[in-house]
Amino acid sequence: SPAAYDDNNIFAKILRGEIPSHRVYEDEHTIAFMDVMPQAPGHVLVLPKAPSRNLLDADPATLTHAISVVQKIANAVKDVFDADGVFIAQFNEPAAGQTVFHLHFHVIPRHEGAALKP
Ligand code: 5GP
Repeated sequence: SPAAYDDNNIFAKILRGEIPSHRVYEDEHTIAFMDVMPQAPGHVLVLPKAPSRNLLDADPATLTHAISVVQKIANAVKDVFDADGVFIAQFNEPAAGQTVFHLHFHVIPRHEGAALKP
């Protein structure tokens, strides 16, 4: 069975305002803030406020809204960072590279010719 949601994960603390973040978007169901270790300038994380560990245990309504916010943020970072494209990433469980266990989407502006991380 999947691991339970842990209220002490770092993004839960950010959502509660216990740890600072550079927020760039917020609505009733979602927040977005800058990644503290950006893979490229303009690397934003989009999080549903609802407590799910990752995509695997999220409810469909949460996902539907979250992807619409991912789209908004993707267009915004593309404009603001004058990017040629936008990379979206999302990891589920440690085996897939997840390190923070509150569902989040990476939104990363990409420039033609810039080195891509694996
Ligand atoms: P993932 O779980 O998707 O593999 O990675 C979590 C992401 O969260 C990483 O890109 C990491 O840099 C970012 N991150 C980890 N801790 C913090 C934090 O305290 N603040 C912010 N803004 N980002 C964080």
